Amino acid sequence: MADLLVVGSVALDTVQTPFGKVQEALGGSATYFSYCASFFTQVRLVATIGEDFPGSHIKLLTDRGVDVSGLKTSHGRTFRWAGEYGYDLNEARTLDTQLNVFADFKPVLDERLRRMPYLFLANIDPDLQLDVLGQMAERPRLVALDTMNFWIQGKREALLRVLGEVDVVTINDAEARQLAGEPNLIKAARAIERMGPSTVVVKRGEYGAVMVNNGAFFVVPAYPLESVYDPTGAGDTFAGGFVGYLARAEKLDRATMRRAMVHGSVMASFTVEDFSLNRLTRLSAQEIEARVAAFHDLVRLEA
Ligand code: AMP
Repeated sequence: MADLLVVGSVALDTVQTPFGKVQEALGGSATYFSYCASFFTQVRLVATIGEDFPGSHIKLLTDRGVDVSGLKTSHGRTFRWAGEYGYDLNEARTLDTQLNVFADFKPVLDERLRRMPYLFLANIDPDLQLDVLGQMAERPRLVALDTMNFWIQGKREALLRVLGEVDVVTINDAEARQLAGEPNLIKAARAIERMGPSTVVVKRGEYGAVMVNNGAFFVVPAYPLESVYDPTGAGDTFAGGFVGYLARAEKLDRATMRRAMVHGSVMASFTVEDFSLNRLTRLSAQEIEARVAAFHDLVRLEA
């Protein structure tokens, strides 16, 4: 089991889906990722929050064993994101992004954090992702990155630079098409692979995920759920399950990568069963194992 460092956003999210609404609930790319990955390994979180951030949210993370010594309180308000989903839950529509303290976020890693063997650069400004990578004392064994349309559109050059430096990219399907400028998802994944990462994971919401790993394709379905309430965080928990599993296994062979895909899909399937991190806070290791086992049946060809 190897330590996993994550740098990303910690947010207060206002989210509306056809099944309900939450106001200023706990969210953020690094929050979902670290909470989820803590089921698999020791996670250390680097992010910034404002003075208005509720202490109960921090307790939630520390109760799961997440190291929050790199979570800095800055003068000002916490980052806020507001979004909505229609009946097609696969596509989030951003209504509002208030960067607040996030606008001046300059992550500084201490000596110990600079030596973390696994690194996840969650969805933040690609210039910051590059900066964090540059602070590492030695090249981590695995560097993974996530991004979104906001940065693909606004910070393309910086994003391409950091993509050239990482091993794994996780990205959703619409964003993969946007980044590659290519409507065919398979061609888009291949095009992103040529940008640098040896592994490209394209998340496809209710249709599961596709991985290109050193040229070979693998697909995993989404767990068939009848009640999906809020897809927010599904992408980050997929990444948390995927990278968390890899950090626990400390292996990167093809079979481990495939099992990591299943763990990503399993963790995302729990997240969407409730708003914010609510379902994850009620989750047990036994439930995770049971759902991983269910995946075997889901895709088995022979009786
Ligand atoms: P996802 O897993 O893709 O659904 O990501 C959801 C999370 O991304 C939400 O909890 C938001 O707080 C966060 N988020 C939204 N926009 C941004 C942004 N521009 N930078 C960083 N995080 C964001």
